[in-house]
Amino acid sequence: MDFSLTKEQRMLLDSIRMLGKRENLKELAAEVDRTGEFPRSLIAKYAEMGLLGMVLPSAYGGQDMDSLTAVLAIEELAKFSPVIASPVFESNVGPVRVISMFGTEAQKQAVLPGVCQGKLSVSVAMTEPNAGSDLTSLTTELVDKGEYYLLNGQKTFISGGGEASHYLVYSRFEGVQGYKGIGAVLVLKGVNGFGFGKQEQFMGLRGMPSCDLIFNDVKVPKSDVVIEQGKFKNLMLTFDIERCGNAAMCLGVAGSAFEEARHYASERKAFGRAICEFQAIQFLLADMAMQLDAARLLVYRAASGAGQGLPSVYEASMAKCHANEMVKEVTDKAMQVFGGYGYSNEYPLERLLRDGRAWGVAGGTLQMLKVTLASMIFGRRFDQRKG
Ligand SMILES: Cc1cc2nc3c(=O)[nH]c(=O)nc-3n(C[C@H](O)[C@H](O)[C@H](O)COP(=O)(O)OP(=O)(O)OC[C@H]3O[C@@H](n4cnc5c(N)ncnc54)[C@H](O)[C@@H]3O)c2cc1C
Repeated sequence: MDFSLTKEQRMLLDSIRMLGKRENLKELAAEVDRTGEFPRSLIAKYAEMGLLGMVLPSAYGGQDMDSLTAVLAIEELAKFSPVIASPVFESNVGPVRVISMFGTEAQKQAVLPGVCQGKLSVSVAMTEPNAGSDLTSLTTELVDKGEYYLLNGQKTFISGGGEASHYLVYSRFEGVQGYKGIGAVLVLKGVNGFGFGKQEQFMGLRGMPSCDLIFNDVKVPKSDVVIEQGKFKNLMLTFDIERCGNAAMCLGVAGSAFEEARHYASERKAFGRAICEFQAIQFLLADMAMQLDAARLLVYRAASGAGQGLPSVYEASMAKCHANEMVKEVTDKAMQVFGGYGYSNEYPLERLLRDGRAWGVAGGTLQMLKVTLASMIFGRRFDQRKG
């Protein structure tokens, strides 16, 4: 398998590094963590650089790029912080891909160009207070009223909640139990009956909005149905693209922790020597490099296999699982290299550890992805409802 980067991909990464220097994104990431305020001015810069919706079809303002290129861009920006990378993540591997792949022409025209210009954004609303891993138990319901559906229910932990212009809401068509009754509709911010709960206070990812969505008799025109009932599989398959993006966030955070630790180990002295001269520190760095490289290969394999379409479920699940575990371990080891300073918010290690911790829950937990992997390994489905 050849993962050597194309000239265009190398140029893209160079341009992101230059942006990082010009906009002092390292400092900005620390400030966003302190204030919890996302720097919206970045979005116009991303749009100008063509980073938003680069994988979307050129007919709608995108650039027809492949998933690997988007993953590379997300990884590079996540080295500053996943929050800094989030608009590029949302516009390339988020629910816009569902609209792009399965939406109607009118839905594509209404959403995709605006996403590429940084004027619109789409959040994915799956999780409910009583349906997270057990997604097929969701109860947010669409009742057929002839010309429109009436939507009622509540979603929780929705990234971009309150900020995004559009929400892809996983919903149950009235009376149809199990996964067969689940589809998805597009709901616009500001429509009657659609409200937001209080902003979530997470351990990390500060500056990335997240809140509950509350639907109270929201009228959804039938033309806003993106995924009809019976097509739940399409939703989950598209979500595997998001999983590659999630894993890319982990690569960025861990890559940054590794570089910080490498630099610190060369500068910090103990017993009259740079601590990189101690074998225990060398082995920490060697282990981190091995874990990071292994994860990177899995993520690039899944993303390059996807091309401009869908990744293999097996490869995407494995890449996400491995990267989620890797980032926890690598940020922890990097913190150890920093001694007491790693635990202080004067240095970025504690932020990287907090930001890295989210990804093994967001986008499907590690445990649920291992259930998926196990079912593929054994060639049979393990029903989680039976003991
Ligand atoms: C930072 C962040 C961002 C998020 N963004 C979004 C978003 O944009 N949109 C959205 O819809 N959701 C989002 N989520 C929600 C996320 O998808 C859910 O939290 C996740 O799917 C887990 O659901 P839960 O929290 O209800 O945990 P639960 O499903 O209650 O699980 C609790 C624990 O039990 C384990 N468990 C459950 N069932 C099994 C089983 N059968 N076998 C083994 N273990 C099991 C889980 O792995 C977990 O460890 C986000 C979450 C976070 C933390």
